[in-house]
Amino acid sequence: MDAHEKKQLLLDSRYLRMTQIWAENSYCRRRQVGALLVKDKMIISDGYNGTPSGFENVCEEGDHSKPYVLHAEANAITKVARSNNSSDGATLYVTTSPCMECSKLIIQAGIRRVVFGEYYRMHDGVDLLCRAGIEIIHLWERDGEYHPVTLTTETSESHFQEVEKYLLSQSR
Ligand SMILES: [Zn+2]
Repeated sequence: MDAHEKKQLLLDSRYLRMTQIWAENSYCRRRQVGALLVKDKMIISDGYNGTPSGFENVCEEGDHSKPYVLHAEANAITKVARSNNSSDGATLYVTTSPCMECSKLIIQAGIRRVVFGEYYRMHDGVDLLCRAGIEIIHLWERDGEYHPVTLTTETSESHFQEVEKYLLSQSR
């Protein structure tokens, strides 16, 4: 890793830690997700999962999330849409890997780079981002250190399985 890559990793891991703290704003009980949009080293938007403005701050109905709960990425993207900023060319930091619906929004919002901390169930959203040519990095935390893994259409599936295997070995 050269000096530039080391510096980028340091920045990426700090922003990712910030999204983990930002996720604590979420009033969802099943899973709290945080996101930040960064452009030219400025945070231009933020989001966490929750109901749209004006709705009560309750995400769950019984065992399920309400269908109108917005994901953290969608909240960050729609928040920037109401501002004078543009997400075009921005980097999205998010605690968990984007789902298929959010990945579509990420592509259309012109986001060029996505950094996430852990997988959420599936990797189909990640696959879509790879196909769209967006730089997508899994900042894999192992033994207290971040290991950046850049994903491609060729490596997305095998990396996901490697992570699953690792998590299984840890839970024993
Ligand atoms: Zn989503």
